[in-house]
Order: sequence, then C-alpha cells, then structure tokens
Amino acid sequence: MLKISHAFDAGAIEPIALDSAQGIRVNIRADSHADFRQWFYFRLQGAREAPCRIRFENAGRCTYVDGWHGYRVAASYDRRRWFRVPTTYESGVLEIAHTPERDSVWYAYFEPYSWERHLELLGRAEDSPRARVQDLGNTVEGRDLNLVTVGSAGAGKKSLWVIERQHPGETMAEWFVEGLLERLVDRYDPVARALLERAVVRIVPNMNPDGAIRGNLRTNAAGANLNREWGAPSLEKSPEVFHVRSAMHRSGVDAFLDVHGDEALPYVFVDGCERLPGFGPKQSALQRAFSGAFKRASPDFQDQHGYPDDKDTKVNLTLASKYVGHTFGCLALTLEMPFKDNADLPDEAVGWNGERSARLGAAALEPLLAVLPEL
Ligand SMILES: [Zn+2]
Repeated sequence: MLKISHAFDAGAIEPIALDSAQGIRVNIRADSHADFRQWFYFRLQGAREAPCRIRFENAGRCTYVDGWHGYRVAASYDRRRWFRVPTTYESGVLEIAHTPERDSVWYAYFEPYSWERHLELLGRAEDSPRARVQDLGNTVEGRDLNLVTVGSAGAGKKSLWVIERQHPGETMAEWFVEGLLERLVDRYDPVARALLERAVVRIVPNMNPDGAIRGNLRTNAAGANLNREWGAPSLEKSPEVFHVRSAMHRSGVDAFLDVHGDEALPYVFVDGCERLPGFGPKQSALQRAFSGAFKRASPDFQDQHGYPDDKDTKVNLTLASKYVGHTFGCLALTLEMPFKDNADLPDEAVGWNGERSARLGAAALEPLLAVLPEL
C-alpha cells in the first residue's frame, strides 16, 4: 500500500492519486493564508524497491516556474542525510523518477530546518557565556520570536544585525545562521573574538516561525509577505517585523544582513541598496569591500551573477534591507543562496544543502570583520 503523509512540522503537499508507483500524482499546496505555492515536504511509504514516478501536476502554476528548470528534488531516508533525486520539468509538470531503497522516503523542496532544531539552536546559544536569548514578542499565532545577542554592549561598539527566514520556505537561511552562530560562540575562533571586541551581533534565526511550521514558502499566518512589511508593520498582520524593527531602532544598526534563498539563480550573491535615494559613496565602498572579503573567505560566494540593477526600480522601502539601508544609512544587504546548486561549484549528490549553507554562514564572519573599521 502506498501512502503519502504531510501532517508534521513543515509538511505540505496535496496527494491526487496513488494508484501505482508509476502513477503517483500530487499538487503543490498554497501557503496557509496566501496564494504563493512552491514549498513541499512529504513522506512516501510502501514503495521500497519500486521504481516510482511522482508527478507534480501544478508545478507550472507555482510562484516561481523558473525555479523548476535545472532543479532536482531533495530526498532523505532518515531526515538527516539529504540527497537529490532525478527530476525533470516538462510541459508544466515536475516529475521525480526514483526507486526508494527503504520503506519510508521523505521528499522536500529543500533540506528542511525543523522547529525542534530551531529550539536546539537557541539552547546551544544559551550554553555560551557570550550569548543571550531574548523574547521580542509573539507571532500571529502566539509563537516566540527570539533574538540571539552575541557579545556585550560597550562604548563605541558597532551593532550588526542578521535576520533569517522572513520567507519561511527558505530553510537554507537558518542553516546559514547555524554556521554563523557556532563560529561566533567558539571562544578559540580568532575572527569571532576580533569581531566581538568591537561589535555586538544580533541574530533573529527565524523571523517567521508560524510560516515555517505550517510549511509556507513565503508568508506568515496572516498571509503577509514579511519582506514587504518593513514600511509600516502592524501587530495584527506582521508582528514579527513590528517587533524586530522596533528592536533595531532601540539598538541602532551599523550593518545588516537579511538571508534568503533564490528559486531561480544557481549562485550565492548579495543584493545591495544601489537603487535607493541617498545611496552614497560610503555605502557603495562598503558593499564592494564586503563582497571582496566574502569572495576571499568562500569560493561559494560570487559577484558576477545576481539581480539586474533595474530590478525593482521603483524604490521599495517595504523590503527589509532597503528599509534598513535607507533608515540607518548603513551597509544593508539581502544575501541569496540557491535552492538548486551553486553552478560555480556544483555537487552532483546533494546540490546546495544545509551543510553548505552553514559553511557559508561561518565564512560570513570574515567580510563582517573586514568592513568593521569602516562602518
Ligand atoms: Zn526570500
């Protein structure tokens, strides 16, 4: 008997037919309160040693159709080791061809980052004498919105902010912060030590807990795309942004990273504030210095491929990095990682994954330290 289930943390799919292993048909589900659809995560049972064809029939009507070209689905037998399975996209249908080796196999849009792991991450942060974990307020559904502060405030110290998962389906962002945070609390890491002598790092590992648990790609439990709420967040629709933005105004911001995943582009890149009024030579020099140092720190980072300069030409101060860059006049970047793979350094077995995101997060300390004297 074949069975597909999705009633678990971040689970999302709509089964249509399970008549035979060769004829499994599903639809990708919309976000819980909005019409974005791309994230999926489900468990298939009963197909051990059976050559399966799983057709995602509405892939062509999903939010980022470009995301399917050259994309391969992530799979796991134990939810620890994830690998990619042969996937095609033709005539609006995404299709997996895979023969599971075990009774259960899990398929996901990208390696998930569970709520349980999120809580463990907070616990590990609190194990460190350098870090504090603070509650900023409630999400729409009453979940905790936590801030991790690493380092102690002092005269002349810079305030660095890093936020993740405004778009909850971009789980690579929380893998990224895991690498970043582990290095920051490592007392023997000289880069972390040098950074914390002159800066305090404030991290929101998960901006959108409700959306993450509900298996949403892009929105919270009120249907809000948090990365369009920074101009005027409200406690009803976007309390997550409301609370974080308030905390930023209390602490000030000298540098800001908003970490995301991009469905279409197979590269790691940053998007800056060039298109904002008031963007000056200082911010421009900081962006170049950050990118240069990041390239030296990690060959996974590059600055050849990214969003074109004319993207979003209407100044959109509702985006986090644009709002922060404009309001605080500081270095403010959106960092994007691929859902597919890094085409400059591809990995046939796993594509871009959690561990690679974590290594990138650890490497991000170097560019932050490099620009610190100029902030
Ligand atoms: Zn995003």
